[in-house]
Amino acid sequence: MTRIVIAGPRGNMGKEAVTMVEETAHFELVAVIDRKNGGFTMKEVEGMTNLDIPVFEDAEVCFQETNPDVLIDLTSPQSGKIHMKLALEHNVRPVIGTTGFSDDDVSELERLAEEKELGAIIAPNFAIGAILMMKFSQMAAKYMDDIEIIEQHHDRKLDAPSGTAVKTAQLISEVRQSKKQGHPEEEETLDGARGASIDGMHIHSVRLPGLVAHQEVLFGGEGQTLKIRHDSMNRRSFMPGVKLACETVMNIDRLVYGLEHIIE
Ligand code: NAP
Repeated sequence: MTRIVIAGPRGNMGKEAVTMVEETAHFELVAVIDRKNGGFTMKEVEGMTNLDIPVFEDAEVCFQETNPDVLIDLTSPQSGKIHMKLALEHNVRPVIGTTGFSDDDVSELERLAEEKELGAIIAPNFAIGAILMMKFSQMAAKYMDDIEIIEQHHDRKLDAPSGTAVKTAQLISEVRQSKKQGHPEEEETLDGARGASIDGMHIHSVRLPGLVAHQEVLFGGEGQTLKIRHDSMNRRSFMPGVKLACETVMNIDRLVYGLEHIIE
């Protein structure tokens, strides 16, 4: 039985994580960390699931009193970083879905996990289908190296292009020579018409209400095209990845950044 604490249980992702842990026979939810409702149980707090599980405001006290195996953090970059450090200090293995960590943050956390010889996972995208889309795109790029990436997200998203689009382009760049695509004398008559560019690959960002998270990678070759597409319809799509990360983190002794490193 893996004993789990979830930080951010009132959030969109956190609620789904609570359900996933409750539905998994070999997981046990022992506590949640919420910045507002310490001292209550979940069923006493509006917006939380009807469970008799204690709520802590202070992560350190939570780890000391409940002694969990794993922390799932789905909060904000600031608190995610603090929670992750405290978890490692208390020998709790962190599974972090919170996005927005800098490279420096990741290096620091990598050092901490190494010192403690403790498993830790940071996964900016838990959708297993999205990871497969990136891996399949990297495979295809060896043979079809003219590529355009179209990512589509809800209109509350603050950053463009998405981290997944950038990551896809970076993975493709590992197997594809940088090159200019399109006509050599191509000119934009309207700024931005050809989108952003990474190593000559073009990335287009669509933002519309009604969308969740979608990406299509288009490959063009002589007389043929190939499209690899992934769609996240809702936040449940991320939960098989969170579950896999909670299982994997128990069997590793270092930090893994990105689910692509644990899916063969
Ligand atoms: P959300 O609905 O805004 O939920 C975030 C929750 O975290 C809120 O309930 C918030 O509480 C809580 N929180 C913030 N600081 C906290 C703290 N110090 N202690 C405890 N709880 C705290 O956001 P979301 O859509 O669930 O996303 C959460 C995170 O996951 C974001 O970083 C998002 O980018 C990321 N995300 C990751 C994936 C992935 O696949 N890895 C997918 C989707 C989203 P308040 O209500 O008090 O502010």
